[in-house]
Amino acid sequence: MKDENCIFCKIANGGIPSATLYEDEDFRVILDLGPATRGHALILPKEHYANVIALPEEVTAKAFILAKKMAAKMMEVLHCDGVNVVQNNGEAAGQTVFHFHIHLIPRYEGDGAGV
Ligand code: 5GP
Ligand code: ZN
Repeated sequence: MKDENCIFCKIANGGIPSATLYEDEDFRVILDLGPATRGHALILPKEHYANVIALPEEVTAKAFILAKKMAAKMMEVLHCDGVNVVQNNGEAAGQTVFHFHIHLIPRYEGDGAGV
């Protein structure tokens, strides 16, 4: 299911161009528009799910396996010192776009990012 009013549905499915780091049948990984650090990326499923609670188990597994692989790639390519894998669900938890996504935030010693 896609939601025609959802910006991440449009981006994930190529309806709006984005800085894409990776794409497969189920996901697109893009650079965040307001990066917390250099290389901050978002994993977006191509199907619309509001949050992790709405995510089918198979998609959940694929999404977090992809997060693990992308985190490893970031360490290798960006030479960062660490990576935050963060995921917000609900406004109270800091979610602002209600299409499930995983943040991959490369961390650099002393970067001071308040993640
Ligand atoms: P949330 O607060 O929902 O966990 O994260 C939403 C993230 O999406 C924020 O980090 C924000 O900068 C990013 N974002 C919002 N709109 C866009 C957009 O149109 N394009 C991209 N690439 N990132 C976006
Ligand atoms: Zn969506």
